Amino acid sequence: MGFVAFPKDFLWGAATSSYQIEGAWQEDGKGESIWDRFSHIPGNVKNNDHGDIACDHYHRWEEDLRLLKDLGVNTYRFSLSWPRIMPDGTGLINQKGLDFYARIVDRLLEYQIQPNVTLYHWDLPQTLQERGGWAVRDSVQWFTDYAEVVFKKLGDRVPLWATINEPWVAAFHGYYSGIMAPGIQNFATAMQTAHHLLVAHANAVQLFKMLACPGKIGIVLNVSHTLPASDKPEDVQASQRYWEYLNGLYLDPLINGHYPERFMEFIGDSAPVIEASDLTIAKGSFDFIGLNYYASEVISSQPDEGILQLASRSFSSSPFYKTALEWGIHPEGILTLLKVMKEQYGNPLVYITENGTAMEDQVLADGQVNDRDRIIYIREHLLKMAEAIELGVNLRGYYYWSFLDNFEWAHGYDPRFGLVRIDYRTLTRHPRRSFSWYQDVVRANGVWE
Ligand code: BGC
Repeated sequence: MGFVAFPKDFLWGAATSSYQIEGAWQEDGKGESIWDRFSHIPGNVKNNDHGDIACDHYHRWEEDLRLLKDLGVNTYRFSLSWPRIMPDGTGLINQKGLDFYARIVDRLLEYQIQPNVTLYHWDLPQTLQERGGWAVRDSVQWFTDYAEVVFKKLGDRVPLWATINEPWVAAFHGYYSGIMAPGIQNFATAMQTAHHLLVAHANAVQLFKMLACPGKIGIVLNVSHTLPASDKPEDVQASQRYWEYLNGLYLDPLINGHYPERFMEFIGDSAPVIEASDLTIAKGSFDFIGLNYYASEVISSQPDEGILQLASRSFSSSPFYKTALEWGIHPEGILTLLKVMKEQYGNPLVYITENGTAMEDQVLADGQVNDRDRIIYIREHLLKMAEAIELGVNLRGYYYWSFLDNFEWAHGYDPRFGLVRIDYRTLTRHPRRSFSWYQDVVRANGVWE
């Protein structure tokens, strides 16, 4: 057993997002978001859970930041609620909302924890949804105006920014499968939405540069490794198609300035309307790319299965332990994707902006929460990341998802991803074993094989 050290300036972090932890959904002038609206409709979320209170982070943020300090991380990724800052999405600014985030940023800096701020993690102001949401082109301008308000308030001191979290999920689960807010089910609309999210991101980055903000800015993408279900040509092609859909849809325009051609041909009339300069602005519109990696997918060709004519299932290389969401576990997938970033996408600066797992808790007699399987999960992924760095991949940081248990979207509060367990009855915080294990990793700047 050897000790695997990470580079000296490696960023060690944990992540959360506004709607999933804050609560206070109607407080201090906050407007309604699409997730407030969606989760209040019975049947949309498991157990009809919603984020009205969530972890009550809005009131307990000081305690939470003290816990982060105790964890020892040197960076923290969190997101801003757009309707808390601009209740109607445009125009009026809610000073109390903006000040809430300014206090968080300042406290983090005081604790020497670098804030990594995401502008958008899915909680669009409901008023903007009523004007068409991300499906209409105006959304690009709405987002840029919101970004300007935030950059002017915090741009002088936040070192790391992400525009949009997982635009693919926002577009395809919000507008195609409909399992997430706003719950629309139309593939062509989802494709148009996906494009607007890309252009909104690119415009916000342009503005950030124009304002000469000193930090780095990027986007956060959900990525998965895909494997064909067999070596039949139709499965191999389906797997490539899914890869282009899930990963290539953003990586290709961001890095090469065009959408994956085969995929666009395949979807035919569902391809989005693109304005002349959109892809030129998108190309190179980042200082870093954030990658959220959870698992790999096995893809088979299914001619009757919707527009993409394929089916996917989660892949697991780890039969001995599984996640509470029945997601597979495949640490090798993170290495494959990181190698692709180096070999096929020019080796941009990347961070793993999310990686983690929901596991069943084992509560010991002394009240401690033993989450041994989560520790194994993190360790195996870190070891694969270390291998990638050794191979020359430009990977400079890792954020465990999530710092706290939280509202897991359509799954409600059942899946628990946190290093810190939340007792939702009392809202007390209980660091798990993985918390102290991760503390040691950060302190030692590495991990034992
Ligand atoms: C999202 C998080 C989510 C996590 C686990 C990511 O898709 O960014 O908000 O909680 O995965 O599902």
